[in-house]
Amino acid sequence: MNEAALQLEGIEKTYNRGRPGEVQVLRGVNLTVAPGEVVALVAPSGAGKSTLLHIAGLLDTPDTGAVRIAGEDMAGQGDAARTATRRRDVGFIYQFHHLLPEFTAAENVILPQLANGTSRAAAEARAAELLGRVGVAARAGHRPAALSGGEQQRVAFCRALANAPRLLLADEPTGNLDPGTSDQVFAALMELVRGTGLSALIATHNLDLAARMDRVLRLEDGRLGA
Ligand code: ADP
Repeated sequence: MNEAALQLEGIEKTYNRGRPGEVQVLRGVNLTVAPGEVVALVAPSGAGKSTLLHIAGLLDTPDTGAVRIAGEDMAGQGDAARTATRRRDVGFIYQFHHLLPEFTAAENVILPQLANGTSRAAAEARAAELLGRVGVAARAGHRPAALSGGEQQRVAFCRALANAPRLLLADEPTGNLDPGTSDQVFAALMELVRGTGLSALIATHNLDLAARMDRVLRLEDGRLGA
């Protein structure tokens, strides 16, 4: 498992290519995220962070360039193979938790594991372990509506890691929280990431949070730089 969790090479993406309103968002993005490395992605709104995360997570395709997940080149892969790699190797976290409202916190972490073929007993044990690590074990039986914003995000982190992905992609994971809560919830995320040896690319506007990661990259004029 020495290969990079994520490699992007020469990624270009233009919306509305050749039409009025053409937006050149990515103009040659190169990035390698090593095993266990946590990289901050800092950029002003509209710079193309979400586009970059969606391409890295195989939810969108670049116009040109290579995407490798855990060493596997995704360019020639069909939709089924891309979906399988995404489910197995990539975890996503968004600004909003997107938990299923009719299920408890524990069930939100158990269900993706059952969908992945894990036994119920193993899925329950892993959910309990993950929820414990981020400090919400006592809230496991509650539905999302009964949880605070910070607790909802902690559960969303556990769900993203439920199937033990190689790579975590996060788009402003604490952007919805007040500054004090954001700090604590971010610390919980970092502990979870460090504890599992996961690689991560985490977009944030918050320079203090960015400084706690291994490396900070800025997305400017469609390219990444230090
Ligand atoms: P960020 O996440 O950094 O705010 P985005 O990746 O969402 O930026 O968007 C980058 C630019 O691309 C913005 O100017 C946005 O308006 C434009 N854009 C994003 N998605 C589309 C789309 N599907 N069609 C056209 N333009 C888009």
